[in-house]
Amino acid sequence: MYTTPVADPTTLTATEIIDLETAHSAGVTGKRPLTIVRGQGAWLWDANGNRYIDCIGGHGAASIGHSHPQVVAAISEQSGRLMLCPDSLYNDQRARLLARLAEISPAGMDRAFLCNSGTEAVEAALKFARISTGRTGIIAARLGFHGRTFGSLSATWRPQYRRPVEPLVPDFSHVRYNDLAALDAAIDDRTAAVLLEVIQGEGGVISADPDFLQGAERLCHERAALLILDEVQTGVGRTGRWWACQHYGVTPDLMPIAKALGGGYPIGACLIGPRVNALPKGSHGSTFGGNPLACASALATLDVIEEEQLIERTAQRGAVLQEQLRGIDSPLIREVRGRGFMVGLDLRIKVTPVLKALQAGGVLALPAGPTVLRLLPPLTISDDDLTHAVEAIAEVLMELKP
Ligand SMILES: *Cc1c(COP(=O)(O)O)cnc(C)c1O
Repeated sequence: MYTTPVADPTTLTATEIIDLETAHSAGVTGKRPLTIVRGQGAWLWDANGNRYIDCIGGHGAASIGHSHPQVVAAISEQSGRLMLCPDSLYNDQRARLLARLAEISPAGMDRAFLCNSGTEAVEAALKFARISTGRTGIIAARLGFHGRTFGSLSATWRPQYRRPVEPLVPDFSHVRYNDLAALDAAIDDRTAAVLLEVIQGEGGVISADPDFLQGAERLCHERAALLILDEVQTGVGRTGRWWACQHYGVTPDLMPIAKALGGGYPIGACLIGPRVNALPKGSHGSTFGGNPLACASALATLDVIEEEQLIERTAQRGAVLQEQLRGIDSPLIREVRGRGFMVGLDLRIKVTPVLKALQAGGVLALPAGPTVLRLLPPLTISDDDLTHAVEAIAEVLMELKP
């Protein structure tokens, strides 16, 4: 099935790679001293030939694993036919993807704007909300994460991300997540949209309460504001449904998606529902948005998710994963939470040493805030690899002192 490259694809040593990146990158990303040169399914290899079980999963983008053969085939085929087609012209792959998204979207969301990343999908949602309502106010949530460009950053909570580049876009405010009374008090006739994650990822894997999300939908409808649900991380099967909002019976008016959509290839989209008014020609655009290569990759990815029944499997195996984690007998675990393959392990100690020890044991995982260990494995990960990851976590927690 998978083709394994014969030779190491890099001729650089681990040290050379780290030195070059350190010397010449912008230096804005905190990094671990680990050089990844190859991926296959749920496995990654470093430049020294060590293999890791990947529960970072490209921060959720590697939902069908690394280099899935169907995506590799779709990309190679399409790259030989047509890679570029401006949005001012029509294209077969784009047409197919738009129709396919309309099929799997929450009810009535049958239009989409295609772009290249999560933050761009959020930017589109913010612009469309202001254009459609003629209002300017955007209400987001504390601890929320929506991206790093100016519009989405204005909705993102963390002061560390915001402060260095202030002033941000005006008329953004933040209310406490899961505080419906605060949201009720905040929405007025100047509110264009409420922007929320269904499960806060960076914020610590915190699920919306059903009352909060359903209340947000009702309040937006009553006050002619739009509801934007950022499903960049939770979307495309991650939580055991196509979209996390479907667990709640809530349908947003605008839904930014990205990460998992391209099977590893960059693509984003902002899905648009019927409460959004017609958008004027020229009001938004993107050179690479909806390019045929990205669309072909996304189409292949959606095929894989359906053919391999990954959503059903994620719902079932995700529940088992949480049970397995709850079964770890350690006083260091405060709580296990999440949905599907978006799982957080809230610890009574700092997460960084745990991540380091896990890496030494061949398992890569993510933080979500200072004390939460976050697992975003590919939806294709094997039962054995998952169990192995849980055992590695149990071992590490046994060795670490509170
Ligand atoms: C990752 C993420 C984004 C930003 O996506 P990028 O592709 O990194 O720009 C936005 N919202 C959420 C919820 C995310 O997890």
